Amino acid sequence: MAIVVRASVALTSVVLAAAACRPTTGATTTGSDADSGTTATATTSSATSRGISSSGADETGTATPPGSSSTSAGGSTSADGTGGGVVVRDCNTAVHFVYFVEADAVYDQAEYDAIEQMAFAFQAYWFEQLGTTFFLHSPVVDVIEADHPGQWYVDTPDGIHNDDRWYRLGNIKTEVYAKLGASDFDPQHRFVNYPPSRHDGRVGANFGGAWMDGDDLTCMLGLNDGVTFPFDEQGPAHCMGHVAHEFGHILGLPHQGPDTDCMQFGFYNNTGGDRMCQFSAENVEQILAEPGNAGWLDALPGQLCLPGR
Ligand SMILES: [Zn+2]
Repeated sequence: MAIVVRASVALTSVVLAAAACRPTTGATTTGSDADSGTTATATTSSATSRGISSSGADETGTATPPGSSSTSAGGSTSADGTGGGVVVRDCNTAVHFVYFVEADAVYDQAEYDAIEQMAFAFQAYWFEQLGTTFFLHSPVVDVIEADHPGQWYVDTPDGIHNDDRWYRLGNIKTEVYAKLGASDFDPQHRFVNYPPSRHDGRVGANFGGAWMDGDDLTCMLGLNDGVTFPFDEQGPAHCMGHVAHEFGHILGLPHQGPDTDCMQFGFYNNTGGDRMCQFSAENVEQILAEPGNAGWLDALPGQLCLPGR
């Protein structure tokens, strides 16, 4: 796979790292978990074997909560109010989109808006893929004014990983969960986190959250032709395809499926052009059958909720 060469490391089935062209962290090994698989894998996986890695499964949903009682309200949600508008319903689970503004970054309304737009588009995308989707949290975007400047998250041991390349991810996860009152693999809350800064290009899915990169936010702002760095030369990794891959892990999927599947190792290269990756019938089936997803996929596009209310 040509891919491997420049940008990818595969953390077994765990984290998506898009480090490649950056000198910062494990630049050498290329990688994003996604593509390269082979090559870099060994390196990374071993290194990560503690924290996130264990997450190959962790990120997926193994540990996902039990009692996600079948969202009575949500599930039964008739198609009533969905016809297009935004509706707040009763539910037990919701996905938060988080705008994580590092202390040395500046809140930008355009970024907030881009995340909010992505949240609704993403919810609708999953409905197209699964025939059902998750509830968005109300409010849709949680803004977190981070405690530290961006580089701090990169340099400070996170107490989770023994591979410093994942410190940023672990540190952000810890702060987000503390501030939003969530726990690892929270039974009621899952997260998609966007920080404005790009420090290492490493994104991943673990602890019930998808931890994206500043590049993804830039992509969502319409820059880079809607392609997430550094995959531009390989074939577009659309902003949504990138997070769809990570979210697929949260829903329990490993790297598998045909070339056009979002969970395929090299989906960045194979989707190409303007095509957006899709989830194969097998992967859709697996997501819907995954016990850990019970109660998580009972919504219709446009439905928001505040779990517990
Ligand atoms: Zn992955």
